[in-house]
Amino acid sequence: MPLDLKSRGTAISHHPTDALMMEYAAGTLPEGFALVVATHISMCDECRARLHAFEAVGGALLDSAPTCEMGEGALARVMAGLDARPARSPAPVAPQSRPQPRPPARPRGLLPEPLAGYVGGGIGSVRWKPLGLGVRTAVIPTGGSATARLLYIPAGESVPDHGHRGRELTLVLQGAFADAEGRFGPGDIECAGTEVEHTPVAEPGQDCICLAATDALLRFRALIPRLAQPLFRI
Ligand SMILES: [Zn+2]
Repeated sequence: MPLDLKSRGTAISHHPTDALMMEYAAGTLPEGFALVVATHISMCDECRARLHAFEAVGGALLDSAPTCEMGEGALARVMAGLDARPARSPAPVAPQSRPQPRPPARPRGLLPEPLAGYVGGGIGSVRWKPLGLGVRTAVIPTGGSATARLLYIPAGESVPDHGHRGRELTLVLQGAFADAEGRFGPGDIECAGTEVEHTPVAEPGQDCICLAATDALLRFRALIPRLAQPLFRI
């Protein structure tokens, strides 16, 4: 009964796109983005099943890659070519073999794995930095070209109006926010590109906590957040 689930706020209605899932399954996402996707998957049965499907497709593509019609003597030529390879030439690396944050089988607590492992404990161990109006942020150390951070938005408050130079993924962990793109509750993920200029507002009633990752600095309209940007890497 999806409607009943929705009324209790437990249904997830915004999922990563197929393209994003494919990048994640292939291991090509920057770590910060992979952390957001992995944490969503740990909260979302539907995407756990989707991930298995994408991984199966990726594996099937790899398995089928060498199967082509081979002419007479082709095998001997391939073997001769292998023998002629320099001894130290690197072995081909399957795309899945790159380490990426992986979702666990069973999520628990407000901070699901793998996020909890990155934070080093529960929500109480987060070292928040104030952004004004009660909005707080905490950068989560990751490698690669994307920056991940937790955002704490008091009920009814908003994150300053901003646009994006790159891609931004936002996953709701607690509470809910709404912007021009829709309403996002626990487990929902918003994928914003350069075309999106938005002012996320936390719903009244419960403070909103999100995990967000960006691969470029946000573009704030107001002066104060712009001044704070270099300090907080948002
Ligand atoms: Zn999902």
